[in-house]
Amino acid sequence: MEFSISKKLLEESEALFPGGVNSPVRSFRSVGTNPPFLSRGKGAYVIDEDGNQYLDYVLSWGPLILGHAHKEVVKDIALQASLGTSFGAPTRIESQLAQKIQRFFPRMEKMRMVSSGTEATMSALRLARGHTGKRKIIKFDGCYHGHGDSLLVQMGSGGLTHGTPNSPGVLEDLAQHTLVAQFNDLDSVTKLFEAHSDDIAAIIIEPVPGNMGVIVPKQEFLQGMRDLCDKYSSVLIFDEVMSGWRAHRGGATQRYGVDPDLICLGKVVGGGLPAGVYGGKAEIMDSLSPLGPVYQAGTLSGNPLAMRAGLTTLEILDELEPFETMEEYARGLGRAMLDIAKERGVSGAVNQVGSMFCFFFTEGPVETKADVDQCDFELFSTVFRKMLNKGVYIAPSQYEASFLSICHQREESDRTLEAFQASLKEI
Ligand code: PMP
Repeated sequence: MEFSISKKLLEESEALFPGGVNSPVRSFRSVGTNPPFLSRGKGAYVIDEDGNQYLDYVLSWGPLILGHAHKEVVKDIALQASLGTSFGAPTRIESQLAQKIQRFFPRMEKMRMVSSGTEATMSALRLARGHTGKRKIIKFDGCYHGHGDSLLVQMGSGGLTHGTPNSPGVLEDLAQHTLVAQFNDLDSVTKLFEAHSDDIAAIIIEPVPGNMGVIVPKQEFLQGMRDLCDKYSSVLIFDEVMSGWRAHRGGATQRYGVDPDLICLGKVVGGGLPAGVYGGKAEIMDSLSPLGPVYQAGTLSGNPLAMRAGLTTLEILDELEPFETMEEYARGLGRAMLDIAKERGVSGAVNQVGSMFCFFFTEGPVETKADVDQCDFELFSTVFRKMLNKGVYIAPSQYEASFLSICHQREESDRTLEAFQASLKEI
């Protein structure tokens, strides 16, 4: 493959943006190569500035469940653009999208539109703190909820003490109120509640984590969160920014039958345009301004173009019901990749939930962040680069999930397996 134009564009962008990118993982630094500059997408494929075509399992990090440039979505965005791109006033389309969201997430009794997943989780936490009058939150090692200050925190020494910032610029004073527990380990959460019983405002959790590869939750672990939040009057927040419409048509909430108090959505809900939303119990949501005292606002919140892209996307999903088919594709692909790895004597494990999946270079099983940390990262990087060169673009880290769209079909599956087999042969 020829990359000369991408290379030139990267030099230019490095002078303009730190690392040449506007979001860190796009730089491909962790996999030791340079990113292709993408110019077009259609269905399951993207094309770079040099004209190389890739089968895309990144799909803009999850939103494009209908594939790139879906005809209906593009048509409806164009129609909306011709009517006006932003009003900063209530519009009918916001309510239409909200009603559609409720068809998939009936627990979203009331909601608020925002412009990103980060905004949704940050705002949900403020609301939980404002509503309960408590200070501390519990998050999980390896779960990512966007870059809000309270959330860029890792485990301090001694799990029962407070978290420490994992980015300069995040104040210790704030980080000390973030407590970090271990995913799939109910005991680690119970201990935090026992140590800080009357000061825990919320648990925030990716019910199906997709930011340490994909991890399958234990149902009783999720139910345990619910029970603890009931016992201590804390707010249970499911961050379904990634798992919404991917773990299941009704997200992990429906797949595992556990009811959170608040749900955060993003990615798919904007149909490829910038949108997020948080919502849940009306009693909690009504603490938001202008009804209640908790403040949160946005000039472009409920932006009509994003609402339109999201609404058309959800309408199509509602009509097609593609969830089971995508899950079968993912399951079949995972199994076939494992067989290929076995043939080549390579250790592998696959975690898959709905249309999210991850191939780990390790013996497995992979059930915790510590298991992911054991993977062969060097081998992953080598295989990633080889796959990319063969025109298959999987998520560029063992800590990232790959995604499917409705455009990924048998031909795409065959192409992926051929590239995987050829890549492992070259090692
Ligand atoms: N929550 C989860 C679970 C995510 O995966 C992400 C982004 N990958 C976010 C929140 C933040 O969303 P955004 O990048 O739209 O701010």
